[in-house]
Amino acid sequence: MKWLIILGLLAMLVIFIAVKFRRHIQTGIYVLKMFRQMRQMNKPPEKQEKRIENTENPGDVQLVRCTKCGSWIPQRTALKLSKNTYYCSSKCMETAVRVS
Ligand SMILES: [Zn+2]
Repeated sequence: MKWLIILGLLAMLVIFIAVKFRRHIQTGIYVLKMFRQMRQMNKPPEKQEKRIENTENPGDVQLVRCTKCGSWIPQRTALKLSKNTYYCSSKCMETAVRVS
């Protein structure tokens, strides 16, 4: 019975601390989340930089022909509809879809 009272008091103390420092705990969790997000955000740019390097390399760029207007455009910027159907812009794609 004595232990139960002590346990109860301890539980109350824990709850009291949790309530009193709730804001501190919440901000702590918030800071931790922010820190994690920052860590995750720091990783992707490395990949993006590599991608930019690839696009700057002219030997890597594959040209495809717009099915609608026939102009040559890099495959990366082209709008792909099916395996061999590319469009230079959404405008070309829209008109092509409307005609067919
Ligand atoms: Zn076009």
